[in-house]
Amino acid sequence: MWHRISCSLFLLQTINQAFAGNISSGGGEFLGDTQNPWFLEATRNEPLSKPIRYCLEKGPDFIVQDRTLVTLVRSAIDWWDLQASSAVLPENLIQVGTQILKFFVKLQTDRFSLDLRCEDATDLKFQFDFTTQKQKDELQKIKIDLSRYVGVTIREDYTPQLRGKGYIYISPDRGPNAMRSPNIVPEIWSVDEKNGHQILLAILKHELGHVHGIPHTQTGLMDAKIPERLTSNLTWDADLYTAMRSPVFFPGPANVESCNRDKEPLPFKYFNIPESHKCVGIYIDLSGAKVWQRLTETGSDQEFLAKVSFNQGYLRRQRNLIHLALPSTRDVYRDVPEFTSRLKGPSITEIQLNFKVNVHGVERAVSIQNEPNWFQISGALDGQMIPDLFPSKSGWRQ
Ligand SMILES: [Zn+2]
Repeated sequence: MWHRISCSLFLLQTINQAFAGNISSGGGEFLGDTQNPWFLEATRNEPLSKPIRYCLEKGPDFIVQDRTLVTLVRSAIDWWDLQASSAVLPENLIQVGTQILKFFVKLQTDRFSLDLRCEDATDLKFQFDFTTQKQKDELQKIKIDLSRYVGVTIREDYTPQLRGKGYIYISPDRGPNAMRSPNIVPEIWSVDEKNGHQILLAILKHELGHVHGIPHTQTGLMDAKIPERLTSNLTWDADLYTAMRSPVFFPGPANVESCNRDKEPLPFKYFNIPESHKCVGIYIDLSGAKVWQRLTETGSDQEFLAKVSFNQGYLRRQRNLIHLALPSTRDVYRDVPEFTSRLKGPSITEIQLNFKVNVHGVERAVSIQNEPNWFQISGALDGQMIPDLFPSKSGWRQ
C-alpha cells in the first residue's frame, strides 16, 4: 500500500505550546518553562496530583466518528502511560544547606478522566476542527493559521503548581478549515480509516508527547516532521512505520529470544547452539548484554554463554529528554534552591554495543542498537552483514 524510499521536502512544522510568552529566535531558543510537562506526579513535599480531566470537541468537517475519536484519544493516553512506566527517572541531587537532597520529576500519565462536555475546568481538550472564538482571537494575535498544521498543541495556562492547561487541535481534511499542504492525501481521514486510523492515532500520540514535555527528536514518533509526513502522499520509509507502530519510546532493558529452530534457524546457527537446546537469546540491561541458551521453552534453566558489560568501553548514554524549568514563582519544588533553574525528567537510555563473543567454539560479532523507536541486533557471517539476528523481533522497529 505504501511506497518506500524517503523524502525530504518542504513541510509544515508542527508547533507546540505557542502561548505562554516564549520567545523564539533564529539561532537558539529561549523556551523558559514552555516545554515543561503539563502534568506531574507529586514527589516530595508537594500537594497530591489530581486526576487529569480531558474532553473531546468536534467541528462539522471532521469526518471521523465520535466514538472512534474517543477510542483513539484513550489509546494515545494509555500508550504514553505505558511508555512512562519504562522510563529511567534520574535523581537530581542538590545541595541544600549541609544536606544533599534528591528531587525527581515524574510525569503524571495516568488518572485521565473523560469529561462528557468540555468545561473551563477541563485540563486538556482534544479539538478536532473546533476552536472557540477566544482561541481564534488568541491564535490571530500570535499569527498562527491552524490550517497550515496537521496537529498543534497549545498551552493556554500554567499554574504555580506547575500544571498546564490547553488543547490539542487536529485539522480536518475538508471544508473551510481543511489543512493546506500541496502534498496532503486528499480526504486523509477517510483514507486512514482503511488503516484503522493508525495515522490519526500516531499524530495524537505525537501531540500528547508535547503535553508530557517531550521535545522534538531526530527520528521516530517525536520527529518534528512526522505529522505532516504521515499525512502526505509522498513516499514512506522505515522511519514512518517506526513512528506509527513502535511499541517502545523510552528504550530500556530488553530480552530478545527465539525458541523455534525450524522457523528461525539464524540465531541458532549463528551462536552454534547444540540441537539439545530449545531457545537462544540476548538479554540487555543497563549493565551490559548476555547471550544465553535454554534447554526448554519455558524452563528456568537459562545458561549464560557470554557476557559483555558497558564498562568495557561500550556505549550507554543517558539522554535527558525532559527537563523541568523552575519558574521563580512556584508553589511546588520549594525546597530546590534559587540557583537551580532546571531539573532532569524521565530520560532515554541509548545503548550501542558492538562486541565479539566466543560461543560454543565460534567467535561471533554482535551489534546492538537500542534507542527511541529503534531496536536492532545484527551480526556478520562470511563477510556478510546480517541486519536482524532475530528476524521475528524486527517487528520492534515497525
Ligand atoms: Zn511536534
